[in-house]
Amino acid sequence: MTRRLIGVLALSASVPALAGPATPSPEVFTVGTASAASGKKATGFLSIPAGSDAGTEIPVAVVRGAKSGPVLALVSGAHGTEYASIAAIEELIGRLDPAQLSGTVVLVPLVNVASFEGKVPHVNPVDGKSMNRFYPGRADGTQTERALLAMTREVVERCDYLIDLHGGDLDEDLRPYAYWVKTGNAKLDAASREMVLAFGLDTIIVATDRPTDAASSRYLDSTATTRGKPAITVEAGRAGTVDPEDVRALVDGCLSVMRQLRMLAGEPARVEHPVWITTLHAVASDATGIFHPLVKRGSYVAAGAPLGYVTDYFGREVFRARAPAAGIVLYVGAVPSMKKGDTLASIGVPGAGD
Ligand SMILES: [Zn+2]
Repeated sequence: MTRRLIGVLALSASVPALAGPATPSPEVFTVGTASAASGKKATGFLSIPAGSDAGTEIPVAVVRGAKSGPVLALVSGAHGTEYASIAAIEELIGRLDPAQLSGTVVLVPLVNVASFEGKVPHVNPVDGKSMNRFYPGRADGTQTERALLAMTREVVERCDYLIDLHGGDLDEDLRPYAYWVKTGNAKLDAASREMVLAFGLDTIIVATDRPTDAASSRYLDSTATTRGKPAITVEAGRAGTVDPEDVRALVDGCLSVMRQLRMLAGEPARVEHPVWITTLHAVASDATGIFHPLVKRGSYVAAGAPLGYVTDYFGREVFRARAPAAGIVLYVGAVPSMKKGDTLASIGVPGAGD
C-alpha cells in the first residue's frame, strides 16, 4: 500500500508536519505518517483513501525506544464505543517514555473513528461491518476492508507481538477477560500464553476456533498469529463507561506484558491461577422486545438458570433465556433494546488452560 501524505496532522513537536523520509534510516520507525527516531515519540495517521465509499484517517503513535528490542503493537477501538480500551491506549501514548523503552511500541487508539464519533456500537457505520471480522482486508473493498488491509500491512506485518484491546460495547455489561489464541503451533502458543498470563486478567478464554488461514484471518489476533506473531485479545469495560478500574487493568496489563518481553525494566505482574474458559455459549434472544436481565456480570450460574426475559412492548413476557450450561456470566445485555437473534448473554464454562 502506498503511503499517502494527504491530510496529515503531525501532533508531536519532535516530528515536523509531513514527516516520513522516503527511505527511513534504520533508526527511524515509520507507521503511516508517524515517524519516530530512536528515543522519540511521534504521532500521525494511517490514511485510507476513498474507494467505493469515503476514506478515513486512523490515528497512530510510534514510541521508539532508545535501546533496541522487539516491536509491540497495541490496538484498540475496532469497536469505537468500547471506551475504556480507547482511554487505556490514549493514556499509554502519554505515559510511555522512549528513554526507558527497549524496542518500539506502535499504538493505534481508534481503528473505527466513525463508530466513535457517531456513537454506533459493533460496526463501522460507513459500511455496516465489524472492524474485527474482515481481516486481512482488501484493496477493492468497502472502508472497513480497506482500513483493515492498511492495519495488516502497516501494523501487523511490522510488529513482533500484538495486543488487541476491547472494552465491552455499549450494550454489554461485561466482566474483564482475555483471549488466549491457541493455534496448535507449540512455540507460538507458549509465547502468547506467557503474554496472557503477564497481562494479568484473571479470566482467560482459550480460543481454539480462530481461522488458521492468513488470507482469511478475520480477527486482528488471528491476523497476527497466522503470520507467526504471538497475539492476545483483552476486554475490560462495559456499557459506555470509562471506569478507572477497567482502564487501569488494561494499562497495567500492557505495561506488564512489556516487562515480560523485556521492553521495560522490572518483573511482570503475572496472574498465577486464572480461570480458563474452554467453552463459550452465546445465548441469543428468540424474540424482539424489551430485555430484562436477571443476572449480573461475573456471576456464576447453574445450567438452566434464568438469565433474563424479553417482553413485548405491552409488558407481556415473550421469551425467557436460560443458561445452556453451568458457568460464568462474561457479559449480559446492558440495555432494554433486544432484537431476535441478538446475543443477550455470554456464558463461559471453565476448563483446563493447557
Ligand atoms: Zn470489541
